[in-house]
Amino acid sequence: MRKLQAGEALFPGIIGYDETVIPQLVNAILSRHNFILLGLRGQAKSRILRALVDLLDEQIPVVPGCEIHDDPLAPLCSACRARVAREGDAMPIAWLPREARYVEKLATPDVTIADMVGDIDPIKAAQAGLNLSDELTMHYGLLPRANRGIFAINELPDLAGKIQVGLFNILQEGDVQIKGYPIRLKLDVMLVFTANPEDYTARGKIITPLKDRIGSEIRTHYPATRHNAMASTRQEAWTERADGLRVEIPDYVREVVEEVAFQARADRKIDKRSGVSQRLPITTLELVVSNAERRALSNGEPLVVPRVTDLAAALPSITGKFELEYEGELRGAEQVARDLIRAAVGAVFTGMFEGQDTRTVVEWFDLGGSLPLSDVSSAEEVVTQSRGVQGLLALAERAGLAPGAPAPVVASAIDFVLEGLYAQKKISRSEERGYSATEPQPRRTTRREEPTLDEGFQVPGGKKKYYN
Ligand SMILES: [Zn+2]
Repeated sequence: MRKLQAGEALFPGIIGYDETVIPQLVNAILSRHNFILLGLRGQAKSRILRALVDLLDEQIPVVPGCEIHDDPLAPLCSACRARVAREGDAMPIAWLPREARYVEKLATPDVTIADMVGDIDPIKAAQAGLNLSDELTMHYGLLPRANRGIFAINELPDLAGKIQVGLFNILQEGDVQIKGYPIRLKLDVMLVFTANPEDYTARGKIITPLKDRIGSEIRTHYPATRHNAMASTRQEAWTERADGLRVEIPDYVREVVEEVAFQARADRKIDKRSGVSQRLPITTLELVVSNAERRALSNGEPLVVPRVTDLAAALPSITGKFELEYEGELRGAEQVARDLIRAAVGAVFTGMFEGQDTRTVVEWFDLGGSLPLSDVSSAEEVVTQSRGVQGLLALAERAGLAPGAPAPVVASAIDFVLEGLYAQKKISRSEERGYSATEPQPRRTTRREEPTLDEGFQVPGGKKKYYN
């Protein structure tokens, strides 16, 4: 409430949720609801839950040594009650920092009641001469240890039904049966969950009474705009490299990296239900920078400027981030990833170069020109080779080159133009020849060695050569 009044950011570092998820979250918290975040992977669900800690008081007073962080003024466990009665106002108190008031558990099928709620410790009972049903014989699980704090369960539907019943009983009735012995615990815990919407609604593996106790159901989502996505990746990706190397990532490289994820989420060859995590662009950008770093180091360049071609080196971070549908399986993960990259480059390039005349450059290739370049070519090499291509540098400047930009920056812009034209299928690219003309159209002579041929005349041999 204080943060709201002061206009502070409630969830710093959570990007793109200001008008969707965060208002719903705030309302749930103000309503004192237990809540569940429903969303696909990589939508910052766990991160939001962990950020809840910052909304707690910096520290709270507790009975020293109590495993369930009893309030000195209202202790729950009988040991603490006895102690307070015995020592009264002389009893010392301890302070519990807010970080210690957050407990998180990934739900897996092997989680037991003992893990979650606790177990009866017969040895403890025997040593103290206690009855097994006495709460002093209890070995506390995660939930009691989260008393006066936040208990987060990730992937709630994966939690066995009987554990869900145990959770519910503790929260609703303050008691639970362990191995037939009734245990009473009036806990004060905020419960928060995450789940995949498919598991949650379709499989229906959340027991009704527990579902009923979840006050708010909040849907998360992937970044709505490329701009938000870029901001999120910029924050998460490790792109500042070692001393002595300066990294400069052109905006169009960031956009293409982001667009790969957008393309993937819309691609029917990729499984929609498992989603495409925001970790895809994050790890992709890291590999793109690393490939550029590798090139800069081996070419002795102090400035690291990633190029769009470096995305090919990021396949290892892309192929593992999505599940394929049958059609995608047929094509293969690597080919699907290459298609995504090409589509992403095409989308960003088309957006940026809409209305620009690329004919001069394309014609140079159509007339038989080729540029043997690769992702290890030094910046100088790229710039030097490109000087021979009429119009190419001028076009590259449209990618936002500042006057007098250093060679690696210029090389990256040239690379973007070449990859863009390749993505638009205006020029082709191969391992042997680098960039060259696309397959020529019929009735058009495009090769230097056949300049005397009539436009309408087709050589049978030539035809075969062209079209196979
Ligand atoms: Zn206690």
